[in-house]
Amino acid sequence: MSDWKQRTTLIHGGTRRSQYGEVSEAIFLTQGFVYDSAEAAEARFKSAGDDEFIYARYGNPTVRMFENRLAQITGYEDGFACTSGMAAVTGAMSALLKAGDEVVAARALFGSCLYVLEDVLGRFGVKITLVDGTDNAAWSEAITEKTTLVFLESVSNPTLEVIDLAHVVKVAHDKGALVVVDDAMSTPIFSYSSHLGADICVISTTKHVDGQGRTLGGMICGSKELIRGPIEAYMKHTGGAMNPFTAWVQLKSLDTLDLRVRAQAGSAMQIAETLEGHAKLSRVRYPQLPSHPQHEIAMRQAASGGTVISIDVTGGKESCFKFLNSLEVFTISNNFADSKSIVTHPATTTHQRLPQEQKDIVGISDGTVRLSVGLEDPVDLIGDLMQALDKI
Ligand SMILES: *Cc1c(COP(=O)(O)O)cnc(C)c1O
Repeated sequence: MSDWKQRTTLIHGGTRRSQYGEVSEAIFLTQGFVYDSAEAAEARFKSAGDDEFIYARYGNPTVRMFENRLAQITGYEDGFACTSGMAAVTGAMSALLKAGDEVVAARALFGSCLYVLEDVLGRFGVKITLVDGTDNAAWSEAITEKTTLVFLESVSNPTLEVIDLAHVVKVAHDKGALVVVDDAMSTPIFSYSSHLGADICVISTTKHVDGQGRTLGGMICGSKELIRGPIEAYMKHTGGAMNPFTAWVQLKSLDTLDLRVRAQAGSAMQIAETLEGHAKLSRVRYPQLPSHPQHEIAMRQAASGGTVISIDVTGGKESCFKFLNSLEVFTISNNFADSKSIVTHPATTTHQRLPQEQKDIVGISDGTVRLSVGLEDPVDLIGDLMQALDKI
């Protein structure tokens, strides 16, 4: 790995050029590769070199360039690109766990992650224990010699709980457990999981990396030993590899990732500061605001509060929907991290299936709204939120 700064790595990290010396990253839209001779095919199947490919389900030059570049940005040795963030989560867990293993995870999890842990892994005999991720003592108590793996979201969705990762890593490693971090919210730009010692980080590249609402993708990052060992073996034989077109789209997105994420996070801070204390809001949660319950940990870990704000509108579902329907710049959708600003009502969409009791525990009310701040002018975004709040 070079010692380039992140912005240089985003442009040049892991570059592979063909014999034509193209400036822009080439897309190799090919499933297979030809061999000069039968002996060459035999040799490559025995042991493929860094620049040798066999089949796109195993690897492809465009996909490999994307893997190397994103891994370098997040501070890991290597990465395996997957069809989606959930393919990355499922792949990492399935590759590293077996029947009888025990997993300790933070309770405030993305719905699909919870399904993979409890329903899928549970069916194959993996025991899952969920803890309050913000409670350091709960982690210390739940992680034992029997724990194989610890799973958490660095910043939870949608309530933006922040976990003290250094503590969790220390407790887990003391007991011999691997730590897998879902880094969707942190963004690759502000990712700190490798610096704080997490073994694996899974990223939904659908979010900030694409950032323009086009392609689904995921990446599993970790040491060369883990990625080119059990992770690659599992992914290449089960068919979750990213396609070259997506890798090319997302590679091109990396050119602007730093600029986009920093602009979006800057606007998010401005919006959070403006909204805090508004009479029609009972809560404004953003990690960079000193009022955030884990503000100190959040700022120690990351240099930014990120691109998402969580607010609670007063007056229940009716006034909350009135607010959502009055917005003119923010659009109603369920994705986040897009260049277009998006509002989501988790209680009736992304988290609809969560029982009320679970919603209460993680802090999702009928008034909770997730604001994903895009690249529009923050003046227009603030104006839009204010006029919509005035309508309720
Ligand atoms: C979106 C998201 C995922 C899943 O990513 P996809 O690319 O949609 O499959 C996983 N974890 C978290 C925290 C997410 O926000």
